[in-house]
Amino acid sequence: MNMDKETFLISSGRDRRNGAPLNSPPMPASNFYLPSERVYSRNEQTETVNRLEELVGGIEGGDALMFGSGMAAAAAVLHRLPVGSTLALPTDPYHGVNGLAEEGEAQGRWKIWRIHPNDTDSWVNACATADLVWVETPANPLIDVTDLPTVCSAPRRGGTILAVDSTFATPMCQLPLNLGADIVMHSATKFLGGHSDLLAGALIVRDDNLRDELHHRRLLNGGVIGSLEAFLTLRGMRTLHLRMERALDNAEQLAHRLTTHPNVAKVRYPGLRDDPNNAIAATFMDGYGAVLSFETTDDGDQATRACEAVEIIHHATSLGGVETTMERRFVIPGQENIPPSLIRMSVGCENLDDLWADLDSALRS
Ligand SMILES: *Cc1c(COP(=O)(O)O)cnc(C)c1O
Repeated sequence: MNMDKETFLISSGRDRRNGAPLNSPPMPASNFYLPSERVYSRNEQTETVNRLEELVGGIEGGDALMFGSGMAAAAAVLHRLPVGSTLALPTDPYHGVNGLAEEGEAQGRWKIWRIHPNDTDSWVNACATADLVWVETPANPLIDVTDLPTVCSAPRRGGTILAVDSTFATPMCQLPLNLGADIVMHSATKFLGGHSDLLAGALIVRDDNLRDELHHRRLLNGGVIGSLEAFLTLRGMRTLHLRMERALDNAEQLAHRLTTHPNVAKVRYPGLRDDPNNAIAATFMDGYGAVLSFETTDDGDQATRACEAVEIIHHATSLGGVETTMERRFVIPGQENIPPSLIRMSVGCENLDDLWADLDSALRS
């Protein structure tokens, strides 16, 4: 049936047979009585996982495979590459993906080609030459936006796979498969789950062969999502559109207010008119996401003090929960190349004025 994404999030991923519960309960099961189509949960998944895959696949416009974490999903994509491949990667991708890619390069599995998120010509070029093109947009932690419509529609050499880590955007802000990507990846730990209480990952594809290949990788690597996590992710996704609506609003307002703060040197949020990513993002994104970052005016001590002083906002890593979180990224191993005073903030669903009062006083502490 044709319906809006908001309706789909609530109505799909359910077993509508008479007498079935509205919500597929978590099914803690590894094996099933034979003969049966369902034999072992690492192969055929539990019912709970199937329902979640229906929902995630439907909202992104493809077939979904759910994993135990975003990294398990990313690893399945990278590890299908034959030895000797070339991998086009953003200059600063998510640090776990970066670690995995660098390890593979050190082992001689593939060569990495680094491209800045805004360097559209090089991404287009990579589509014609690399084996895997891995785009992350909006990107960690400077919130750069890659021109997805141009990159996704660029001619690809036979066999080139274009994957988009769409974690920061969620399906509410962009649908990369509709633009022409081969794979959409999510850390469902973040906005899809939405409550900072689980680890999960997703890959969504349209091509049947690619789906089977990634399913096979999941089977051999043992990366399938657990049943309880699948249940919680499904439950979280019922309100994805409502959470995003509030979080996007809060993020935009906080970004604006931060630009006027005496102790803030620079704010990065694609929704700000003078942000270098605003023009590109406006061409294809439906909202600019709920993650922003900013730099304090000193070399980092003030940022640390602010992170320690917040009382409503949570000083914690990760993102995408109903709770607003913030942290310095510079202190994370492997992230020393980003500005030392940079704070990344994942904006949640609290009252805007409460958030601002907390942030303002923390920045003055
Ligand atoms: C968190 C994150 C990942 C990794 O996901 P996990 O669920 O932590 O394994 C990958 N990409 C991005 C953009 C992320 O934010």
